[in-house]
Amino acid sequence: MDCLFCKIVNGDIPSKKVYEDEHVLAFHDINPVAPVHVLVIPKKHIQSVMAIEPEDKELIGHLHLSLQKVAETMEVTESGFRVVTNIGKHGQQTVFHLHYHLIGGRQLEWQF
Ligand code: C5P
Repeated sequence: MDCLFCKIVNGDIPSKKVYEDEHVLAFHDINPVAPVHVLVIPKKHIQSVMAIEPEDKELIGHLHLSLQKVAETMEVTESGFRVVTNIGKHGQQTVFHLHYHLIGGRQLEWQF
């Protein structure tokens, strides 16, 4: 499958890993928008939130627990941070493999 993040999961494309286990990988975004910008992804190829199936319930819960671990590793739990997942064209999704942006390390704004 021609998926950038599947290639990162497989090690075909290098990444700066923050966390990894059997089901989840977290790595630094190559184009960070804040001092902390980590992508947390399931190793299983799921296109977006809209492609999550009932059989993925446990995986998605596990992924959220992994977000906690990454936040702790990146030392943003006290200051706070943001978790974002973009979906489709208007959501500005550019990589069609489910990923959560964990962003922090500075005061964030909320503007559209
Ligand atoms: O939500 P969206 O699909 O736009 O996010 C994709 C993210 O993947 C971008 O923030 C981009 O910088 C990141 N990326 C990356 N490594 C790549 C290609 C894209 O971290 N090789």
